[in-house]
Amino acid sequence: MTLWTEPAVGQWFVSNDGVRWWFDSGDISLDFAYTGSMGDGRPEWEYWHSPEDAEAWVLARFGVPVSVTQADLRSAKRLRDAVAGLVTDVSQGRPQRPDHQAVVNRYAARPDVAPQLGDVDPQPTIDQVLAGLAREAVHVLGQHADGIRECGGDNCAIVYLDTSRSANRRWCSMSRCGNRHKVRESRARQAAARSTTEPGTDRPDPTGEPE
Ligand SMILES: [Zn+2]
Repeated sequence: MTLWTEPAVGQWFVSNDGVRWWFDSGDISLDFAYTGSMGDGRPEWEYWHSPEDAEAWVLARFGVPVSVTQADLRSAKRLRDAVAGLVTDVSQGRPQRPDHQAVVNRYAARPDVAPQLGDVDPQPTIDQVLAGLAREAVHVLGQHADGIRECGGDNCAIVYLDTSRSANRRWCSMSRCGNRHKVRESRARQAAARSTTEPGTDRPDPTGEPE
């Protein structure tokens, strides 16, 4: 973590069937990317409709109030969409686009919130918060790109950073795609067990020679 504080990571998602589930993206820069459509262009995935939405997000994640203007919001979305493009490309095995990298680098070069000793109440500006998020994205995409992966679930393109010790996270959420996979696997096992015990089931003879 390159930020001045340990932010709150993870968020609630609502799936198409209306089920609410917790998504731990693994890093605040991915959570930031997930305030938009992650390049899908789907307006219903936009969480930041107004400057107040961005202010509320920063307060909830970092515990500090910031003031956000319409221009700040456009700026924040420029950075966010560049981060989203980069993590999506990396999760699908594509190279990072230089134009997206240039945007992130530009924000990362600005001053972020300085770490301080003692009981100091930080009063960051939104620009400083964005610089911190950009630096975190540089850290994750630069040092941990191999941990940025797409969920292994069928028809699930959710991207996370695998922070597990054994580096073997496979799912956006164990209770969602992980569980579906387990159910499917156990059904397939049961079906296979039935087909080997039921008489008259056609199956290849392992000792049979080709004709
Ligand atoms: Zn999934």
